Amino acid sequence: MDIEKIRADLEAFNEKEDEEYYMNWSGQKDDMDISSIFKEYEHLFTMDTVKFLKSEAQEASGEDERRLKQLHAASSSGLLQNAVKELTDKKEQIEASKVIKVGDEEMPYRFSVVKMLNSDDRDYRQAIFDSRNQVLDELNPVLKGRVEEFHNLAVSLGHPTYMEFIRDIKNLDLESLMDSLDVLISQTSNLYKEKMEELLSPIGVPLAEAEKHDIAYLFRAKEFDPYFKKEEAVPALKRTLLGIGIDLDEQANIHLDTEEREKKSPRAFCAPIKIPQKIMLVIMPQGGVQDFHSLFHEAGHAEHHGFVEEDCFVEYKWLGDKSVSETYAFLLEYLNIDRNWLKKNIQMDDYSSYLQFGYLTKLFFLRRYGAKLKYEMQIHSKGLPGMDDVYAKTLEETLIFRHPPNHYLADMDDGFYTAQYLRAWIFEAQLRSVLREKFGDEWFLDSRSGDYVKDLWAYGQKFDVVELAQMIGFSGLDINPLIDEIEENLG
Ligand SMILES: [Zn+2]
Repeated sequence: MDIEKIRADLEAFNEKEDEEYYMNWSGQKDDMDISSIFKEYEHLFTMDTVKFLKSEAQEASGEDERRLKQLHAASSSGLLQNAVKELTDKKEQIEASKVIKVGDEEMPYRFSVVKMLNSDDRDYRQAIFDSRNQVLDELNPVLKGRVEEFHNLAVSLGHPTYMEFIRDIKNLDLESLMDSLDVLISQTSNLYKEKMEELLSPIGVPLAEAEKHDIAYLFRAKEFDPYFKKEEAVPALKRTLLGIGIDLDEQANIHLDTEEREKKSPRAFCAPIKIPQKIMLVIMPQGGVQDFHSLFHEAGHAEHHGFVEEDCFVEYKWLGDKSVSETYAFLLEYLNIDRNWLKKNIQMDDYSSYLQFGYLTKLFFLRRYGAKLKYEMQIHSKGLPGMDDVYAKTLEETLIFRHPPNHYLADMDDGFYTAQYLRAWIFEAQLRSVLREKFGDEWFLDSRSGDYVKDLWAYGQKFDVVELAQMIGFSGLDINPLIDEIEENLG
């Protein structure tokens, strides 16, 4: 086997996959055909290739070892994805085609969630929720098949469990991450309960009796939308980037796709078609808080990919620790709940209630992902039987409100992506604390902040977030800046 060919093919595979996503989500191509791309590059994801890369990595040292480990991780996770691709297609197909009935009204399954979280009528929300849960009963056998296949393949690849497989290939210290989250969860428990009861008071439902759809509806917070106007989203982003010395209009490699197309995804996304030469930042501004959040988030991914060194190895451009890119995405996104940034960019009479809302949302997500991690560590080490109840119990312990047991497979991403988000949340608060210390509370108006992050962006995903934390002056991941930030803004 030829390692250089594997590298070149992996790059081509990733480029084609992102181009396919771009064409479909931007509304320029109707069907999405990831399966054919997998088929074309199937040789990258065979048992033989995985074993070959593993033994090459074991014999290597230094930079070679780092690169080969990343290749091995990509090849083995690709093997798993390739094995379940029909089930993945089936899941997509059910979700895309299902129509649910609510009273006399019919609506597409996927669209029903939008209707649900935008409705002020609790009974109507509950009716949609119940119908959606029936679709989940139909989806669950497919989802179950996928997860069982993941578990079996991890064992075939020589790992005791799927959890240990992911921990090994992604080099994730799940136990110490869980320990950190346990600290955050116990330290913010009272704060969470108090603020959530306040959030729920307008609809008169106690936290313990609230349903998922109530929480989704309240976090939708339409009342703040008027401050985040559709036509101001892109100018606010450009102004913010200029503040750190980046002129988006002059960046030839970042393509801003703002064209209105009927089938374009309303949610912003970033598709790196060629790193760093051709990065698509796709938006169809709708206005509203969520829209600003997702635009800034995706712009963080785009700038990271766009500033990767051109002669950087394939592995560092495309593979490696996904928490790294998520960190840079969060760094831009969370400017939307930064008091100093808001004062410069968004006109509001009273910033406090918006900030309270913003930090409660963030705290909610941190606790939710902490609970999800705890649950995933169980399902991916003990297997599926009885896990629907474990899911409900674990999530309710941390979040209090109700969680239907049959969400236990749908409310889960592959490959412990939960852990990668959590690492990014932790590291982003550390990185931001350094920027504030070096360049002040208005670091986002200082081009030296841009130079500082550009130096990190240039590495691509060569280093993981633990190594990057060490590079910027910490001994490793440290959850305290994140806890401090929550307590300062919400306490
Ligand atoms: Zn992201």
